[in-house]
Amino acid sequence: MFDSNNSNDIQSSNLNSANNFEKENKVSCNKNDNLSSNLLNNSDDKHLSKDNNSNNVGNSNDNMRNFDCSENSLNNTNEKNLYCDFCIIGAGPAGLTASIYAARAAKNVVVFSGSTPFGQLMNTYDVENYPGFATPIQGPQLMKDMAEQAKCVGVQIIAKQVDKIDILKKKSQKTESSDEEYKFCILYGKSKCYSKICIVTTGATPKWLGLKSEERLKGRGVSSCATCDGAFFKNLTVVVVGGGNTAVEEAIYLSNIAKKVILVHRRNTLRAEAILQKKLFALNNVEFYWNFTLSDIFDDGSFVNEVEIENVQNMKKQRIAADGVFIAIGHAPQTSLVKEILTLDEYGYVKGGQVKTHIDGLYVAGDVVDSVYRQAVTAAAQGCMAAIDALKFLSINEI
Ligand SMILES: Cc1cc2nc3c(=O)[nH]c(=O)nc-3n(C[C@H](O)[C@H](O)[C@H](O)COP(=O)(O)OP(=O)(O)OC[C@H]3O[C@@H](n4cnc5c(N)ncnc54)[C@H](O)[C@@H]3O)c2cc1C
Repeated sequence: MFDSNNSNDIQSSNLNSANNFEKENKVSCNKNDNLSSNLLNNSDDKHLSKDNNSNNVGNSNDNMRNFDCSENSLNNTNEKNLYCDFCIIGAGPAGLTASIYAARAAKNVVVFSGSTPFGQLMNTYDVENYPGFATPIQGPQLMKDMAEQAKCVGVQIIAKQVDKIDILKKKSQKTESSDEEYKFCILYGKSKCYSKICIVTTGATPKWLGLKSEERLKGRGVSSCATCDGAFFKNLTVVVVGGGNTAVEEAIYLSNIAKKVILVHRRNTLRAEAILQKKLFALNNVEFYWNFTLSDIFDDGSFVNEVEIENVQNMKKQRIAADGVFIAIGHAPQTSLVKEILTLDEYGYVKGGQVKTHIDGLYVAGDVVDSVYRQAVTAAAQGCMAAIDALKFLSINEI
């Protein structure tokens, strides 16, 4: 049994060390700020010393301390070429974690954050299942902290969308302005980033119905992730929309938490695998509305309290009381950058579930390759794996 007296002691002693930790980190980041103007001049980074190319991203052990923690480092909009060891495409938990590992191994690291800087968690409120937070942390705060951590170990985050990954012929290809060997040329706008390693962490976006009320009530009863938000609906009534594997899995998961689960599906049969259907039909707290679509969602001023469903055959509408709505109509993995160079599965995810690809130096991590778990912690874990594998690859091949 949990002893609250003891836990207070533990909590307060942990709090003290956490405060010290924070102070120490603040000191080191402040130091970085003061030294940031020396970034190029003081560096003994091999890229920089060769041609003094100011577009190289400096991050050797020495100049790591000189890293600019200011906001300016987020938006490098100059149009010239960049040269780096690691180019990471995507700034969600996978990309930022990979960048932290690579930067701490004294590599030059550039992260492109794309059109959703810091990823899907920017669109949510309480995150209760990311380890390390006794009280729920807000998704945007968690991501801001991850990005700050990355910047403080020397990562350069560029708020740009990548348009193309070119794989350079043979490892001996050299560029006009550097005799380092780069394997990838990342194109963004009119600019290029040459890199030895490329880690693609472009994520996946949940599909939504497109209702105005759905958008308005996201995080206030409307969700796309039962594993993430199901716990908020203990003993309540939730609606799940969809008929494929995602919807059935979400409904089964929620049936263990909620008092009642209402599955709304626009057809009269499910598309989910038979074994999942069997499990679902055996549950006694799941109710089905066949041939219905969700047409609107209502709230009591703050939270979802009712939904409107429409019969696709006779167009009749009806309202049902509900405390939450889970839209489970699938995810769209962001694989357009790699669809020509890697094999995708039938749902558009990078096939295989592994971080290593068949192309030397090219790695994938997070939701873009993971159609099963799709969690911040698993994305971060894969980012770590990709970075460690890539570091080994560079070391073994002496690149
Ligand atoms: C509403 C909601 C709530 C959630 N709640 C939780 C939760 O409570 N707990 C939990 O563990 N998980 C939760 N998740 C899931 C979690 O957010 C994801 O599993 C996680 O963010 C995946 O991380 P990722 O790094 O793989 O990708 P993402 O977070 O999707 O990040 C992808 C990044 O790639 C960038 N990108 C894409 N294309 C390009 C391009 N061409 N060029 C440059 N950049 C590009 C994007 O801009 C973005 O920065 C939730 C998801 C949603 C949608």
